[in-house]
Amino acid sequence: MGQEKTEALVLRGVDFSESSRIVTFLTPERGRMACLAKGARRAKSGLGAVLDTFNRVELIYYWKDGRHVQTLAEASLLEAYSGIKRDFERTAYAAFPLELALRVAHENEPSQPLYDVMVRGLDGLRAWPGAARAHVCWHVLRLLSAAGFEPALTHCVVCGATVADEAGFVYEGGVTCGRERCDLRLPPETLALLRAFSAAEGACPEVACGAHALAAAFMVLRRYAARQLETDFRSLRVLDELFPEANAAPGVRDAGRPRAARDSDGSI
Ligand SMILES: [Zn+2]
Repeated sequence: MGQEKTEALVLRGVDFSESSRIVTFLTPERGRMACLAKGARRAKSGLGAVLDTFNRVELIYYWKDGRHVQTLAEASLLEAYSGIKRDFERTAYAAFPLELALRVAHENEPSQPLYDVMVRGLDGLRAWPGAARAHVCWHVLRLLSAAGFEPALTHCVVCGATVADEAGFVYEGGVTCGRERCDLRLPPETLALLRAFSAAEGACPEVACGAHALAAAFMVLRRYAARQLETDFRSLRVLDELFPEANAAPGVRDAGRPRAARDSDGSI
């Protein structure tokens, strides 16, 4: 059993006993890593505050191969992201990329790109002047890309043709041209917005867009992530309870008729 040191982000914490918590971290070298934090629930220890969700911390822990929960020795705070936590809406929206990272990160697997994207996203949201939802769209796209789940936004996922501004979207992979069946139709402004987010690697672009396009982009991304990872995000259920509009996209039409019917009359 060796002692190791790393920087990490706190993804999740669960009470374990009367005094301990099991905390799941994202780390650059070990990927997703759960640690038993003894004494974290004791008010006097201060460890509980250091291990608050979203925090960027430095850890010293005891690593043992084959064990799913490692043992935490020490943790110190590097960044508490109070710029996110003091804003109710930002916190609720930021919980989605955090949960996404928890789902896509692998145990004991080097994850530097994913880690960098998570830190860049939280750093950016802390000082973001616009709507939290816009920043989270960008962050989620970057995370999907870092994890190998990037949606196609320029070429039809069925036939490979270049897709102009009239596009469909399938949750299996991304945009489709007008000839293919699809899960929904993407308004041109929404597609342009998704492309702008996708093209900006370093930071969320300050794009001017309508509220409808942003709502649609968020809806497309959350459904795409849920389908790709075959999961139901708890953070999104909470978001919908707090902000019901987070699950509405007035500008988007679901291509809701059966596929066979659409194929036969050709009017998708
Ligand atoms: Zn096509």
